[in-house]
Amino acid sequence: MDILITALRDYFAPLGFWGILLLTICVLILSVFVAFIGDYFKLKNAITLANHNAKLAKELATKEKVEVQLGVKAELVLKHTDRKEVWLEITIINTGEITAFIKRIAALLEIDTHKIVGTDISFTPDVSELNPKKQTTIELKPHGAEYVCNLVIKRNYRFQIHEKGGVNYSKGYVELTTGKKFEFEFQLLSEKTWDAVAQPEFFGEFSGKLPHKCSGCGSVFFMRNPALIAVDGKKPYVTCPHCKHVDAL
Ligand SMILES: [Zn+2]
Repeated sequence: MDILITALRDYFAPLGFWGILLLTICVLILSVFVAFIGDYFKLKNAITLANHNAKLAKELATKEKVEVQLGVKAELVLKHTDRKEVWLEITIINTGEITAFIKRIAALLEIDTHKIVGTDISFTPDVSELNPKKQTTIELKPHGAEYVCNLVIKRNYRFQIHEKGGVNYSKGYVELTTGKKFEFEFQLLSEKTWDAVAQPEFFGEFSGKLPHKCSGCGSVFFMRNPALIAVDGKKPYVTCPHCKHVDAL
């Protein structure tokens, strides 16, 4: 710019007053032109930046749409430990693409009104749930990581009941730290089954499973129906969960 003005001055100087006038006009035109070019590029950059931001925002929105996906399965099982216990076994599998953070696992109980002992005052809680003794945040990695939660069930627990095809079910949920909930349901035991479980030598069907006495260690455990285990006419077998002894059936 300065070189240009110097060149113009040298050119117009010999012309005296008119030369200076022409030089001033030329410099003014040049300044306006330079300012215009500057603004043009500023505007162009601003448009590019706005487009870039819009694209970025769109990409972020797409990323947030990737949600946690859990597969939750729950069933009552009989555990032959030193005592005979009925457990609600809740299996949670992260089937999605991102890590899940679970803050709460619960099975729904009937909401009872409680009376405060020694008074006429009673209160009804908003919710009544069966939870694990320790509720800590559980991190579950994506692509199939699994977590199993076992809750010991007593016969007098009053689960919320819904009926399907003559069978009683109850339900519960798994809640993420984000507040998203995944519901599950499980089949309840009939009074007859609870009676049978109470017997010292319980040998009935339980949750669709059959009892088996291990010929290795003598403990009784439950297995799937042998007819379902048998594959391609091969003899079915079962492995003892206690001593790993394999019994042919
Ligand atoms: Zn065994």
